[in-house]
Amino acid sequence: MYREFGISDETLKLAADCEAGLRDIFAEADRIAEYNQLKVLHAMQKNRVSEECFRTSTGYGHNDYGRDTLERVYADVFRTENALVRPQITCGTHAIATALFAVLRPGDELLCPAGRPYDTLHEVIGIRDSAGSLKEYGVSYREVGLKEDGSFDYDAIRAAVNDKTKLVEIQRSRGYSERRSFSVAEIGELIRFIKDIRSDILVMVDNCYGEFTEVREPSEAGADMVAGSLIKNPGGGLVPTGGYICGTDECIRQCAVRLTAPGLGQEIGANLGILPAFYQGLFMAPVVVAGAVKSAALASAVFKELGFFVTPGPEETRHDIIQAVRMEKPALLEAFCLGIQEAAPVDAFVTPVPSPMEGYADDIIMAAGTFVAGSSIELSADGPLRPPYTVFYQGGLSYYHGKAGVLKAAERVRAAL
Ligand SMILES: *Cc1c(COP(=O)(O)O)cnc(C)c1O
Repeated sequence: MYREFGISDETLKLAADCEAGLRDIFAEADRIAEYNQLKVLHAMQKNRVSEECFRTSTGYGHNDYGRDTLERVYADVFRTENALVRPQITCGTHAIATALFAVLRPGDELLCPAGRPYDTLHEVIGIRDSAGSLKEYGVSYREVGLKEDGSFDYDAIRAAVNDKTKLVEIQRSRGYSERRSFSVAEIGELIRFIKDIRSDILVMVDNCYGEFTEVREPSEAGADMVAGSLIKNPGGGLVPTGGYICGTDECIRQCAVRLTAPGLGQEIGANLGILPAFYQGLFMAPVVVAGAVKSAALASAVFKELGFFVTPGPEETRHDIIQAVRMEKPALLEAFCLGIQEAAPVDAFVTPVPSPMEGYADDIIMAAGTFVAGSSIELSADGPLRPPYTVFYQGGLSYYHGKAGVLKAAERVRAAL
């Protein structure tokens, strides 16, 4: 079948050798998936998920039993007091922006102690001027970069905290940067450090791409809120749209009135009949994430063998599903993306080209042929057109699909070298 798929014996042999070297890494991913599968199952049973939960609601969505139960399930999975899990949260950026606007007031300061946040948040915060940003509402922003070795700069963080500091945002995943992703243990240590300086400072973790890559979530390590997208990890590839915020009851209530309206809060929001996918996607997510983690490790090993700088390295412990490969040349970045596109079940015949994109400063090239538009828990690769032309590979609903993508990308890149 691989030959029919255009994969040379040489590339296939390379992948087989890499897989053999990754046996322990794969076993660890399976062990994490096994734990998280039971975590999700237990949360569903504890909250008595029943057929009643799959009913459609329309209009205001008052007394939506399925929606309310799903939010209790999420709260239990993330070990928080409350959760907001909604199709009305349009994406990850919206979930994070909702959390920021929910707790920050004019005169407050937002602190990012672990480097610049994800591109789409720059306009939310006002790092790039934008209508409706936190900056426009009189919320100031402070940032502390990482140290040379990628660790937290604790001295600088201590110096950056002041009387106005209200909320700290920490991004778990690397996003479109080459920094490491942070483990839940590292994030927990940073949270303890900040709460030791002032215990009333709130901490929100951008959990995008990190969910279920470890047995614990940042909300189990002291974060007041974690937020993310349902067309990434926790949607398991099945959720058509939405986002989540899990956290303390007080924070989530504030998020709910920001999302809907003061006085309405969490009580409204019709489910429009798509709740079964929310439950089923969460149920599948641990296994889907394990497949994505394994194929990311394979991509790392294969492209390292081909001579590229990869991060994380094949044997490094992973805290998100993203694999970065420094392609060095625009043509190689495009070749990688073409290979991923050719491995898609949908739109395999189209050629990805770089173009401007809402919320991003540079042109972006994106390869994906997904069942859910824009879903990046499905096999996808993207990167901004700026040196060193790093491609970010992620997703794959099964390991075998991820592997097919890695092999096609390797074939295309080798031809373009
Ligand atoms: C994807 C992502 C976001 C934003 O999510 P969207 O759903 O694309 O709006 C934020 N932070 C990180 C780290 C991400 O990977």
